[in-house]
Amino acid sequence: MMMMEVTTTTTANPTKLDYHDDMWKFHSVSSFVSFFQGEDGRCALILDSTIFYPQGGGQPSDTGFITISSHPHFKFIVNDVRSKDGIVFHYGFFENSGEGFESKLEKGVQVLLYVDESRRTLNSRLHSAGHLLDACLGNVGLGYLEPTKAYHFPDGPYVEYKGSVPQSEMQMKQKELEIEANKLISKGGKVSAAILPYEEACELCGGCLPDYIPKGSTPRIVKLGDTPGCPCGGTHVADISEILSMKVRHRRNMDGVGDGTIKLGTVPLRRRDSTTASLSTANSNLPGPNLNLSNLIIAFSNKGFTAKELVALSGSHTIGQARCAVFRSHIYNDTNINAEENTRTEDVA
Ligand SMILES: [Zn+2]
Repeated sequence: MMMMEVTTTTTANPTKLDYHDDMWKFHSVSSFVSFFQGEDGRCALILDSTIFYPQGGGQPSDTGFITISSHPHFKFIVNDVRSKDGIVFHYGFFENSGEGFESKLEKGVQVLLYVDESRRTLNSRLHSAGHLLDACLGNVGLGYLEPTKAYHFPDGPYVEYKGSVPQSEMQMKQKELEIEANKLISKGGKVSAAILPYEEACELCGGCLPDYIPKGSTPRIVKLGDTPGCPCGGTHVADISEILSMKVRHRRNMDGVGDGTIKLGTVPLRRRDSTTASLSTANSNLPGPNLNLSNLIIAFSNKGFTAKELVALSGSHTIGQARCAVFRSHIYNDTNINAEENTRTEDVA
């Protein structure tokens, strides 16, 4: 097996962060700089510029893949992205390993980048929801709380604040925040991000910047509609309305209340529920139990869902819920069902 070239990165220039200029670009062209193998055995590609977001600022990394147009079999799957000293490491593996792809990577060779769009879109929604919650605090009389930590991962996003809210008011404030956030979502508003001179950034953020932004630096400021700007390196939705809907929950700290911090969970919802019911729309829009796969895919895509989301949603709806009468005709009458599977299914059932 060919030895992998291990390149040190001390000489590499900082990676140009293309997602700073365009947060909604999922394909791009860049050029290869070096191949890196860390002490932990993980391989990484270092590129001249990237649209891949490296984990940081409370936002998870992007995933996706990288190809070279001159080598059709070359595909590097990116499963983690990190940034160190301004250099972005695209960690992952070659899809067809053993073909010596490392040797095809010459400095300057053109590479094509593909970011997983659905993962990025969710991460951007969660990140924007955190900022929106923050922007709403002042409107419900909680502007004195000081944000200390933000976590925008899908497994339980929250923003943590220093300060306290009387226990008796917490529930009401939480509700007010939720109403306020959803009001701004319904109204919508352009989201923008720009790297600005310190003074200009100050002005946009309501007159001052947090202490961790060095004086005289040029911070990147993200602004959601008319709300005050906020220094941020992450990715966001293009319009506040794309957050769709949000729930606000007061999350108790592990050690109970009273440690001087408040955790407010942000839970952006997938869709808004209808306020009216319609039998005919339900009958014509909802996919029935007898639809075959291609019709199911069509029915879900009519509502903007991918085949992957169809599988996830169907799975979570069916487990423990479907009666055998509903799928019996499929199992015994469909021609593409393996007869052996019938017997096995009977055993399990
Ligand atoms: Zn942010």
